[in-house]
Amino acid sequence: MQVRYYVKGTKLEAEAWYAAIEPVFEDEGAPIAITEIDEANAVFETAAYLDVPEGGDRAGDFARAAGVPVERVGREAIENKDWMAEVLAGLKPVRAGRFLVHGAHDRDAVAEGDIAIEIEAGMAFGTGHHGTTAGCLTLIEEEVSRRLPRSTLDLGTGSAVLAIGLAKLGGMAVLATDIDPVAVEVARQNAAANGVGTLVEVVEAVGFASARVEERAPYDLIVANVLAGPLKEMAPDFARHLAPQGRVILSGILDSQHDGVVEAFVAEGLKHEKTLPIGEWVTLLLRG
Ligand code: SAH
Repeated sequence: MQVRYYVKGTKLEAEAWYAAIEPVFEDEGAPIAITEIDEANAVFETAAYLDVPEGGDRAGDFARAAGVPVERVGREAIENKDWMAEVLAGLKPVRAGRFLVHGAHDRDAVAEGDIAIEIEAGMAFGTGHHGTTAGCLTLIEEEVSRRLPRSTLDLGTGSAVLAIGLAKLGGMAVLATDIDPVAVEVARQNAAANGVGTLVEVVEAVGFASARVEERAPYDLIVANVLAGPLKEMAPDFARHLAPQGRVILSGILDSQHDGVVEAFVAEGLKHEKTLPIGEWVTLLLRG
């Protein structure tokens, strides 16, 4: 059973709780979220979605991690682990590391030091509310801070959320692709609206099959949040378009598909460096 534990307070409190609980529940991959639940009164809430054994309760764990009395902790059982739909319904800002993905109506939520990505829920996937997007953003921040890539590909860009994050964080050019012409259009608009229209080039392409994708190869960093099946099929293409020591961040992979995807990429000579679980999804970091 999954339970949403939450505590309400001011924005500052909510951010402090978030910072406190994140490292505690990181290893189990629990999704954590800050949401503004009452705009008029500036009430914020920090929540963690924790796996709880049948008949058990983890309010104490949550209270200890946040440093609040257990009486302040609210709880709500999530049916069918469908926390995503829950979060999506609100479309409140989502934090992943330094990134804050938010809609236009939540510009106020952007704090100093945040790298804001403004996305309207629309025709293209990627509002930041999905664990796979959050997983990619988290690994992007870690990896780009470690070493700035020169050439970067965001394959399956959807709303361009990851490409915008990359361009804003690293200030480098990003090639973004999608199989879906509507997503390509939305991605272009979002990149421009986020002030990185000149850094993010968007092209329509199926996988790596595009003259533009070839021209801009090899890539120091390829990010692809697609699905396990196509990722496995494309493993040889990833290897072929990756620069020596280049890095690959993959998501859209269910926990149960983890080993199969890793095997397909290891078979192409890549090294598996890290797995970041969020809910039932995993995000992988591999290296050439
Ligand atoms: N990158 C965004 C969107 C991920 S959704 C995020 O992380 O939130 C996956 C996107 O990949 C969709 O927009 C879909 O149209 C696109 N896609 C699926 N298969 C693809 C393929 N083979 N080549 C390119 N894009 C693909």
